[in-house]
Amino acid sequence: MDCLFCKIAGGQINAAFVHQDERLLAFKDINPQAPLHVLIVPRRHIATLNDLGPADDALVGSMFRRAAAIAAEHGYAERGYRTVFNCQRDAGQTVFHIHLHLLAGRGLRWPPG
Ligand code: AMP
Ligand code: ZN
Repeated sequence: MDCLFCKIAGGQINAAFVHQDERLLAFKDINPQAPLHVLIVPRRHIATLNDLGPADDALVGSMFRRAAAIAAEHGYAERGYRTVFNCQRDAGQTVFHIHLHLLAGRGLRWPPG
């Protein structure tokens, strides 16, 4: 399958990893939108949020808990951070393998653009 994040998970493309375990990867976004911009990605290919099933609830929960842990490791637990899933075209999804963005280190506007 020609999927960028499957290739990163498989070691065919390098990434700046901040975490790896049996189910999840976390690595620095190549085009950071904040001083800390990390993507939390399941090893298993899931194209969009629309493709999640009830059996994935624990996986998605672990993605958010990993984001919180990485934010805390970088000193942003109190100051704050944002987590974002983009789903499909109108949200700006460009890589069709789900990923949770973790953004921290600057004031983030609301509503987002
Ligand atoms: P999205 O637009 O929500 O699908 O997010 C995809 C993200 O992947 C963007 O923020 C890109 O900058 C990021 N990205 C694309 N290629 C790479 C790569 N090789 N390594 C790390 N991040 C990447
Ligand atoms: Zn994939």
